[in-house]
Amino acid sequence: MTLAAVQGQTRAVDALRKAVAGATLGHAYLFTGPSGVGKELTALGLAQAMVCGEAPGEGCGRCSACVRVERFRHPDVLWLMPESDQVRRRLAGRSDFDHVPSREIRVEQVRRLQERLALRGLESPRKLVLVLPAEAMNPQAQNAFLKTLEEPPDDTTLVLVTAAPDRLLPTLRSRCVRIAFGPLPRSLVAERVMREKGLDRAAAEAVARLADGSLERALELDAQELERRRETIRAFEAVTSSDLRTALRFAEQAGGSRDVAERALGVLTTWVRDVAVARVGGGDLFHPELQALAREAAQRLDDIQLHLRFRLLDEALVAIRQHNASPRLQLERLALEMAGPAG
Ligand SMILES: [Zn+2]
Repeated sequence: MTLAAVQGQTRAVDALRKAVAGATLGHAYLFTGPSGVGKELTALGLAQAMVCGEAPGEGCGRCSACVRVERFRHPDVLWLMPESDQVRRRLAGRSDFDHVPSREIRVEQVRRLQERLALRGLESPRKLVLVLPAEAMNPQAQNAFLKTLEEPPDDTTLVLVTAAPDRLLPTLRSRCVRIAFGPLPRSLVAERVMREKGLDRAAAEAVARLADGSLERALELDAQELERRRETIRAFEAVTSSDLRTALRFAEQAGGSRDVAERALGVLTTWVRDVAVARVGGGDLFHPELQALAREAAQRLDDIQLHLRFRLLDEALVAIRQHNASPRLQLERLALEMAGPAG
């Protein structure tokens, strides 16, 4: 988990390595970029580089200090994390809280951190604070944290890790040096998926394409999930004006819950893009295994119908995500409008 183990983020890692080596590490960094591309790994790697006894400035991953960083147990590497994440990572038990573990980082946690920061480092000359993920801080917590950013203790570096920087106060963002993490190269994601999930190259490449540069998402996508996606696409393409029952069946299948619906709409957006690509004879598809179906749909649909599909998918996603609309009803509406007038 050392800096050397971070893949595909050379620029970010080099910048941090240089700062540690030259003792020019800043007071506050904002690690931004999509989820699952190595932001947290890099933050922990940075912590190891700072506290490692064997390979200072780099981290060995094996010494007591490095191992305690990985287990979130090093006394000078402090972290702010929602209680629910502490339970999920087994850093705390449910019974450690007298309430339902919160999914937000609360102001009380920020205050406790500030008390710790007032004390000297226990083992290292420098302390590191990791906020994972920073957007989990609720507005009160962000305001409290701003005070630390305004007057950071000399011996402290703060790292805010986030995939959603626009959910942070602008005043908070502006006080941090931004380190951008891009999507990972598809070939790298495919290699890791082959190695870690034992998929063959074709399957691993299909997964990497769908994961869109996120290793985390790629590793979650197993064969079953891929088959579920294909079923969603087939059900979507089966919707025709001649048989409205297929439209309702599709809505029932894809609108089971908010999560299921959001995932289905995301998959279908990549699918309609594939159909558009197939229409102009392109080959780089998200779902190459459904190429024949994409070609067939491309012949059946004209430009207006394709655009309608993009628009309906987008509208349904916005309605469900931002306006709390019923996923089932949104998907019914989508299917019925897509099917057009019966007969
Ligand atoms: Zn070490």
